Amino acid sequence: WSTIATPIDKLNDLSKISYPLCMRTLHEALCTNSHLRNSGRMQYGLFLKGIGVTLEDALRFWRDAFSKKADGVAFEKKYAYSVKHYFGKEGKQTNYTPYGCQKIISSSVGPGEYHGCPFRHMDRDSLCQKLTSCGVFASNMTEILDLAKDGQYHLACAKYFEVMHNKPASKPLLHPNAYFVESRAILTE
Ligand code: SF4
Repeated sequence: WSTIATPIDKLNDLSKISYPLCMRTLHEALCTNSHLRNSGRMQYGLFLKGIGVTLEDALRFWRDAFSKKADGVAFEKKYAYSVKHYFGKEGKQTNYTPYGCQKIISSSVGPGEYHGCPFRHMDRDSLCQKLTSCGVFASNMTEILDLAKDGQYHLACAKYFEVMHNKPASKPLLHPNAYFVESRAILTE
């Protein structure tokens, strides 16, 4: 994981340039809806922990993100526990690690949920719309959509990485946090 702390006021920018599409989708859904269901909170929350967001910042981030739907008291009651929980500060104090692609790809995603891997879980039209909104042009679109359709999710993700960074990753990226670390290495070199 990242050993450098990531300030939460940078997450909007980072989501556009250094997040893999699964985490960008969760971040954008959270900003749009002021809410994420439990599986989405877990997938995104553990990723944030992995990129160096501290527990204090994570609590602030989720409280602000939920503020249109839950006031401070409601947040404390309904959600703060789970944030502390995946930092290993509540319950059995398990120190959860961020999910890898395999786990994310094999998760089940219901209506109104945004976790999972977009290359696996979005239908072609929704994926096309999402990629267009991320600035992927038609010249790369068909290749990514076809890779996703053929079940080559990692290759679709690798192509997305290449498009976003104007160069391919130096190695296969099998974990959203590895994607982030590789992106930061390229963009800050
Ligand atoms: Fe996220 Fe992995 Fe899917 Fe890429 S392949 S979008 S990193 S789950």
